[in-house]
Amino acid sequence: MTAPLHRPRPGTPDTQQGMRRRNLSRVLHAVAAEGPLSRAAVAQHIGLTRAAVSTLVDELIRAGLLEELGPQRPGGVGRPGSALMVSDRGPAGFGAEVGVDHLAVCAVDLRGTVRARAERRVSNRGRAPGPVLRDLAALINQVNGEAAAEGLRPAGLAVAVPGLVARGSHTVVRAPNLDWHDTDLGALLPAHLPWGDDVPLTVDNEANFGALAELWLTADRPADFLHVSAEIGIGAALVVEGELLRGARGFAGELGHVPVRPEGPACPCGSRGCLEQYAGEEAVLRAAGLAPGADRTALLAERADAGDAATRRALRGAGSALGIALTGAVNLLDPRAVVLGGALSRLAPWLLPSLERELTRRATTPADGVLISQLGSEGPLLGAAHSARRTVLDDPMGSVRA
Ligand SMILES: [Zn+2]
Repeated sequence: MTAPLHRPRPGTPDTQQGMRRRNLSRVLHAVAAEGPLSRAAVAQHIGLTRAAVSTLVDELIRAGLLEELGPQRPGGVGRPGSALMVSDRGPAGFGAEVGVDHLAVCAVDLRGTVRARAERRVSNRGRAPGPVLRDLAALINQVNGEAAAEGLRPAGLAVAVPGLVARGSHTVVRAPNLDWHDTDLGALLPAHLPWGDDVPLTVDNEANFGALAELWLTADRPADFLHVSAEIGIGAALVVEGELLRGARGFAGELGHVPVRPEGPACPCGSRGCLEQYAGEEAVLRAAGLAPGADRTALLAERADAGDAATRRALRGAGSALGIALTGAVNLLDPRAVVLGGALSRLAPWLLPSLERELTRRATTPADGVLISQLGSEGPLLGAAHSARRTVLDDPMGSVRA
């Protein structure tokens, strides 16, 4: 039932069957990343013979995962090679996001293109899981209908939540801004889905999916970085050599509850002076003397852009607090870069100077500095959908129903 994000590579190379499944995955990954490619180019890419690649390609075409676009270089010498692309029909990755004040769902095809998307603004703060998941399922059904009309079917559903998820489970252990505790999405969500239990479900923290989106979708992103994002809460995720560092229980990355000032204001987590109390959106709005509105980030950006002194001062303060909290993380972990994502990317022009000043003053600047995500608040949703898509690329035959 469980399809953990970090499924081991399919099969093992010490059995012929394992080797075949692994090579099917290598072919599909190569074409997904570099296609259109000829069979000869695929062979060159993955270091197998042309004959071996042809057998694998034929199997992937029969399974509907690859398609031939017709002859390439028709004027070339010898038999023309046919260009291969991953199919834009068949299995799709479904991603869903439960935010504090919105729900969103999207479907990406095997090429990585978003083919259907739905969103609803709704305040989920303090709402029981049941009604929230019913609303989410309605959006999933809507996206599924649109995707089905284009010949796509769900290969997996990944749900991003603003809370701690026990490693390898569907259970949200604690989501303070929703007020959810020990909520098992695996038990609650499938009853509302058109496919019930038949499609693998993954549940993970939104910050983890945001970091994975950054890793997979941003060109030239280093394989080692610390991704920091904010909505109401502040989350971080560490990517080491292209993999998430999850921690023993799956709770790594709670930067928002790193103490910035030990005697500071009380935090819902039970501690005092946490980063979230200085750099979370609501804290910044309070410091700027603004009432929390529908789109908090837009309001802050608008005010700061217009030169409002109180807003700029509040954002400078948030940047300093982020810099202090990040000093600990950077000293401990030595990431190549710190990437600001989510709402932080939009507010970066006003956060960055004081943030970088704290890091520099404490002589801990990461090698590639502080970078700004181009994905903005779409990161977690895209990361979720792409993680579901990648389960097909990682084990192509596992996604084909008998
Ligand atoms: Zn806290």
